[in-house]
Amino acid sequence: LYILVTGATGFIGAHVVDELLRRGHRVRAATRSLPKGELMKISRPQYAARLDIVQVRDFSASASFTDAVQGVDGIIHVASPFTYTTTDNEKELVKPAIAGVKSVLDAAAQEGKVKRVVITSSFAAVLDVGRTAPPRFAYTSEDWNPLTYEEAVAKDTSAVVAYRGSKKFAELAAWEFVRERKPGFDVVTLCPPMTFGPIAHPVERLADLNESNAMLWAVASGKEMPVARVPFWVDVRDLAVAHVEALVRADAGGKRFVVASPEKFSYGLVKRFVEEQFEWGRERVAQGEQEVDDGYDLDGERAGRELGVGYRGFRETVRDFVEQAVKMEGRE
Ligand code: NDP
Repeated sequence: LYILVTGATGFIGAHVVDELLRRGHRVRAATRSLPKGELMKISRPQYAARLDIVQVRDFSASASFTDAVQGVDGIIHVASPFTYTTTDNEKELVKPAIAGVKSVLDAAAQEGKVKRVVITSSFAAVLDVGRTAPPRFAYTSEDWNPLTYEEAVAKDTSAVVAYRGSKKFAELAAWEFVRERKPGFDVVTLCPPMTFGPIAHPVERLADLNESNAMLWAVASGKEMPVARVPFWVDVRDLAVAHVEALVRADAGGKRFVVASPEKFSYGLVKRFVEEQFEWGRERVAQGEQEVDDGYDLDGERAGRELGVGYRGFRETVRDFVEQAVKMEGRE
């Protein structure tokens, strides 16, 4: 198959690209930055014949994707702003997330050859902060964040909450698009929680790490013990497999999946695994402890079953990422 991947030079997108290439598919990788795209291509010489880079600078108009969608059989739309450093949440997070989904779907509908679009939503679109245990409960893909648009973009809303709104309203826009436009493709959405693991995208300095891995590094490098807002996580490599399975499995069409490890995490666990697996660990890791919040669950098992995804253990994920980060640090 020939697949367009947006956000291809980001943390999750690059793993999705690699999973597609490994399976023999042809990939068009969309990025805002051609130099990053070139770096990505140069570091995969074995796939040069099946990987092309396309620049999509602006998400706000469907015309921006017109070239990118030409001739592809499917799309994995990963791109969306994920940062907690903002000055205007609506402009930097919420609007571009929604515009990105609408534009890519609109361009796909006009092109006409696309059969499926897989969209990276988030557990942020599932979470309900007002719901607390006891009694114990489990989130599933039936759950939706009750946050309103007005709350998400209010001036005093934090970037964390606005980001959740960006993911919720972008995903809703996708479901609405297929319902109303009845294009020649179906949509699958994936809702992963905190995603961790080794990086495959071009990152020059540890200071430029993506938002989720930056938290692991903050613990390992002794900077701080971040707050674990939820105890749920998934390894980026397992999530990449889920994206590709969601694309190729006929019966996944029209479904929403929570893709999450059954094991829970805390940054206290990150600390323990770093101490246990690295000689320098004890001297360096962040101070403080943090228990795993075990009051509630998230059903990632349905996605595991229906998409045939196995979930790695947290110890391995922490090890593989920290090992790589330490090497990067040595080169800085
Ligand atoms: P990254 O920041 O590494 O990747 C984000 C990607 O989106 C980048 O490729 C970036 O493009 C692109 N992007 C960001 N803002 C814009 C914009 N305004 N216009 C066009 N493109 C934009 O983060 P992740 O890989 O972690 O995130 C990828 C997706 O996964 C996002 O949709 C995020 O919401 C979702 N997600 C992430 C989780 C995590 O823990 N990491 C958990 C759940 C969901 P470029 O490379 O060209 O700059």
